[in-house]
Amino acid sequence: MKTRKHLETLPAYTPIEPFEVLSARIGRAPAEIVKLDANENPYGPLQVVREALGTVDFPHIYPDPESRGLRNSLEKFTGVPAEYLMAGSGADELLDLLMRVFLEPDDCILSCPPTFGMYSFDAELNAARCVEVPRRADFSLDMDGIRSAVEKYQPKLFFITSPNNPDGSVLDEETIDALLELPTLIVLDEAYIEFAGENHGASLSHIGEVPERENLIVLRTFSKWAGLAGLRIGYGAFPAWLMPTLWKSKQPYNVNVAASVAAQVSLEHVDELTKIVELLKSERERLLRELKRIPYLIPYPTQSNFILCKVIGLDAAKLKEKLAEEHGVFIRYFNKPGLRDHIRISVGRPQDTDALLGALGMLNVKS
Ligand code: PMP
Repeated sequence: MKTRKHLETLPAYTPIEPFEVLSARIGRAPAEIVKLDANENPYGPLQVVREALGTVDFPHIYPDPESRGLRNSLEKFTGVPAEYLMAGSGADELLDLLMRVFLEPDDCILSCPPTFGMYSFDAELNAARCVEVPRRADFSLDMDGIRSAVEKYQPKLFFITSPNNPDGSVLDEETIDALLELPTLIVLDEAYIEFAGENHGASLSHIGEVPERENLIVLRTFSKWAGLAGLRIGYGAFPAWLMPTLWKSKQPYNVNVAASVAAQVSLEHVDELTKIVELLKSERERLLRELKRIPYLIPYPTQSNFILCKVIGLDAAKLKEKLAEEHGVFIRYFNKPGLRDHIRISVGRPQDTDALLGALGMLNVKS
């Protein structure tokens, strides 16, 4: 018996460990863990959302395959007509759906690392290749490299993130216009856009342009700004010509009832969510100021809910390990091209920042 050949060599994606596993591993109660490793929103869902989840009417009935209620709410929220919108079990599901819909074996996608690892992983999972044009040292895009890679490899899809994970930089308008001139389909991943610009990202998002373009897809999620990561709910806006194929290719009941209710109630209380986003943004500025004072860290500017730091003169892997094992503070450590000796810290509540800074102050890690 044999599985598909390309899966034999596919490296597994390394997911973030969940609370209960972390808690058991380091022997601390979940409440004593400061989880700053996955860019989740520590405030969680709004109280009204929690209450709505407890009184869901029809959890025993399959959900609406077309997520009509949610798509109508999203139309009001984004200004994009519902016929261009599709919801998914997290933006992750929509990434995978796009790959399944577009890629023949040996086709390729384009990505600009350092960036979100799911693009290359999903491409390989779908027997395709990921052509990479690395970002420059300041995380800006190498436009010449991108133009020649598009010409040479003719990628079917180009995945690009703004704000980028892991550094938090936002693409400027000129760059996005230049990308949209390329002869490929641009998938603009705006998972963190609500933390950038003003008005929960509305001033910067490109989702409103999707209906006017043939080659732009924008993906968004409720995982970060709305605190619904555990419920798995994301959405995207897609060109009209693509919608019929997407509808027939997705799993029929991909958005569960709880996720759909949580997202709709969240959208009825955008003002409250915006207050939480603003809290996180001001905590980000405080955290950034404090991290700049730590002699062994160089934090990068960010417009997202995380801060990337270069670690100097210390062993970054040990730093991460000690924070976790000795202080119950979890951060992300990277050791890959463009990110050697880097850590990424999600922005939390003031008490999370205090715990992190206290732990960093007590560390004694030699390189
Ligand atoms: N895009 C980026 C850039 C991300 O960082 C993440 C989550 N880490 C996602 C998409 C996936 O979001 P979701 O939780 O909606 O699947």
